[in-house]
Amino acid sequence: MTDIATEIAQDSAVYKTLLESTKAIPWKIDWKTMAFTYIGPQIEHLLGWRQDSWLSVDDWATRMHPEDREWVVNFCVSQSQSGTDHEADYRALTADGDYVWIRDVVHVARDENGEVEALIGFMFDISERKKTEEKLKALQRELEELSFKDGLTGVANRRMFDSILQLEWTNARRNGQPLSVILLDIDFFKQYNDHYGHIAGDDCLKRVAKVLSGAAARARDFFARYGGEEFILVLPETDAKAAERVAERCRALLFKEQIAHANSPAGQILTLSMGIGTLIPSQQDDPRVFLDAVDRNLYQAKQQGRNRIVNGN
Ligand code: GH3
Ligand code: MG
Ligand code: MG
Repeated sequence: MTDIATEIAQDSAVYKTLLESTKAIPWKIDWKTMAFTYIGPQIEHLLGWRQDSWLSVDDWATRMHPEDREWVVNFCVSQSQSGTDHEADYRALTADGDYVWIRDVVHVARDENGEVEALIGFMFDISERKKTEEKLKALQRELEELSFKDGLTGVANRRMFDSILQLEWTNARRNGQPLSVILLDIDFFKQYNDHYGHIAGDDCLKRVAKVLSGAAARARDFFARYGGEEFILVLPETDAKAAERVAERCRALLFKEQIAHANSPAGQILTLSMGIGTLIPSQQDDPRVFLDAVDRNLYQAKQQGRNRIVNGN
């Protein structure tokens, strides 16, 4: 061999060693025959299929998750046809029947006339990255859920209430159906805290939330902590009479609990005052004005001696 030939041979050996010792898996496909002319031996370690079992692009396409196959194949073919370097993430099938997330990075090689000659690429194992992404997504979902949940009682919070009211308001207006809201406020809760302490006060709120969340039975009825010791019920397709029955049920359920409130001027047990509002919203109505009216009814209930329901319209 000439010196140059020896040098090239030595270089090739070096390149081969380099290519076959990286984690990324190199491959080459001849464009005319769509056959693999090379794939790194690492492929067997990653997917379990023998190196010499990779003959044509069909072997590549069939060893892919059925949900990914169509778009990945179409995408890679069209990119290659237009001579554009590209990359695709997909799930590759292992010999054991599992799937491994792969990122395939593809370079389109051309001959001296500019015609596509071959596809040269690297496959990267990105399963760890995908796992991290999925964990992040799950955390994100959890965070979204938490941001609509009251931290103390675990029921929906004010923010969630705002969204639900908005939604049901629009529904009620569109369908010409009555919408009812019940605002519930614990009587003399300041005295409860003063007498039993703030921690016991917190426990009491949790207990009340649990009891009241069982008061409304229909699928779209919605219960939230409105703030402090106030709770709220949104009752779609519910007229004033039906809302009053739900309010009575709230009172009955809490009474059944017999939560001691030794210092309550309203009796020896914990009680609630409630304001109810009902309307079929029209274009002119405003949810804030409606809630103000409900709040005034609650205030009336307090004025009239507490432990009662006011359903004035
Ligand atoms: P009223 O019968 O007029 O409703 O009297 P009240 O004492 O219940 O009402 P007020 O608005 O004067 O006081 C509400 C009390 O609720 C005061 C506040 O410390 C207490 N409170 C609000 N949020 C919490 C909470 O998360 N935990 C505890 N323990 N107490 C709370
Ligand atoms: Mg209050
Ligand atoms: Mg109160």
